[in-house]
Amino acid sequence: MRRSARSPARLTAGSACLFALTALCSLAATEPAHAGRHSITIVYDRPKEPDHREIYDAMRRRRVLERVAAAFDLVRLPKRLTYRLKECSGEPNAWYDPRTHAVTICYELVGSILRLAPATASPAGVSRDDAVRGPVLQVLFHESSHALFDLLRIPVLGREEDAADQVASLVLLHLTPADARSVVNGSGYFFATLGRHEPIDRGSFADAHGLSWQRFYNLACMAYGSDRRRFGYIVEKKYLPIERAKACEEEYSRIVLAFRMLIVPHLRVASRRSERLRRTFGNMPASH
Ligand SMILES: [Zn+2]
Repeated sequence: MRRSARSPARLTAGSACLFALTALCSLAATEPAHAGRHSITIVYDRPKEPDHREIYDAMRRRRVLERVAAAFDLVRLPKRLTYRLKECSGEPNAWYDPRTHAVTICYELVGSILRLAPATASPAGVSRDDAVRGPVLQVLFHESSHALFDLLRIPVLGREEDAADQVASLVLLHLTPADARSVVNGSGYFFATLGRHEPIDRGSFADAHGLSWQRFYNLACMAYGSDRRRFGYIVEKKYLPIERAKACEEEYSRIVLAFRMLIVPHLRVASRRSERLRRTFGNMPASH
């Protein structure tokens, strides 16, 4: 089982009420879903906890799982993949289970993301919408990446958690430009907020995931490396040290090369969107 984010539960313990879920509404800005057409099942478990009811309604109404699934349905999957929103006995988590081929996101994790989001906007200007939409998509894309590695038998050098973040970031960066920017900002806000409260101890170093600040800088580097003009503010505002930024274009192109060699061959042939992806990655410069 691949567990995703470090548990935010310890950071958000308390009885803070959920904010209004308007932020979830903007999750729907990705392209229309057609999940279910091929090999993906979507399940929204009806929650027992009253606090989760709003999340259930908003996620279903906005077809969040369907839209994430649609992005990954561009890949020919040999097995049926399931996306499930469910209650997890208080544990704010998400994971991909290779035994059942299911990506699960817990109500509790969405609740934590909602509680961590600013009421209107952060001091750095990240809106509440982005602060919710970004991490929800990042988590789902991260778990979907674990699913791709497993179902397509993709070899992974280095830590799988880092590779899953890289593929998730690559997909996020290929949403529309406005969506990509809002998701990068929102996910960056989430990682930074977790990082400010994260204990730096042996347990953190032993964890299969990078520290939240490392995940923040990796995402920032991916974004800046993908387009230095569009994401130039990441360096101008000193969110990413210049020493790291110098190598981000090369770092990004190495990930593009891996994606092109390992995942693009599995894209559906008879799909306009997958053809567009194939062209995009086929034309990108990639270092050796
Ligand atoms: Zn993971």
